[in-house]
Amino acid sequence: MTAATTTSVSLSLRDIHLAFGPNRVLRGVDLDVARGETACVIGPSGSGKSTLLRTINRLIEPDRGDVLLDGRSVLGESPDRLRQRVGMVFQQFNLFPHMSVLHNITLALRRLKKLSEDEAVAIARAQLELVGLAAKADARPAHLSGGQQQRVAIARALALQPQVMLFDEATSALDPELVKGVLGLMADLAAEGMTMVVVTHEMGFAREVADTVAFMDRGVVLEAGAPAEIFERATHPRLRRFLSQVL
Ligand code: ADP
Ligand code: MG
Repeated sequence: MTAATTTSVSLSLRDIHLAFGPNRVLRGVDLDVARGETACVIGPSGSGKSTLLRTINRLIEPDRGDVLLDGRSVLGESPDRLRQRVGMVFQQFNLFPHMSVLHNITLALRRLKKLSEDEAVAIARAQLELVGLAAKADARPAHLSGGQQQRVAIARALALQPQVMLFDEATSALDPELVKGVLGLMADLAAEGMTMVVVTHEMGFAREVADTVAFMDRGVVLEAGAPAEIFERATHPRLRRFLSQVL
């Protein structure tokens, strides 16, 4: 078990548009992720993958379109509540460097869930145990390997008992020998029934773990389907070209 048991939800992105000035970064994105399933988003750099993820937990507001969890729009929900429901893990971990590993995890529990210090510490320790880092509770992030830091970041998100997890190139900053451990943790989470959207360059992970693979190009999902469809029967020339570069 990686996460405390929670109920995952379905996620739907409906016609998401977003521009930065004249740069139309998202140009009508649709994506459906059934409850408990994992969608991997692949595509070239600059195609809008990170921006899309950020619209899901409202780190950024779309100009048009909607994000639905179990059929209900998140756009009316308070960002604090939404960020408990939708956990996010970044390429650069984004841990607070001046705080212990334990404190990194208790902070959100205290601020967002209004737990007491004792309650927060108990949950944080249990979550660290689940990701195999109980012994590092009092360490500063800088004293951990990149792989360990990323597992702390995942533990921090899971401690809030999210219903959806978002991963933005969570292994891209890791030394090659550390990638496997983090991908393994993500695969466990998927197997336990977490609803996940995973932006990744790890095509092996996408092929093995994803229920759906979505290829993004220039602000739209150009092609989406089961891994076998995308990797073995890709039709779109741009997808075929992308795959020939990364596989
Ligand atoms: P990807 O994750 O697929 O590499 P991004 O979503 O990071 O793509 O970026 C898509 C486009 O949006 C790029 O052209 C990038 O320069 C632009 N962009 C991303 N974030 C911002 C921002 N905060 N302000 C202005 N432009 C941005
Ligand atoms: Mg990105």
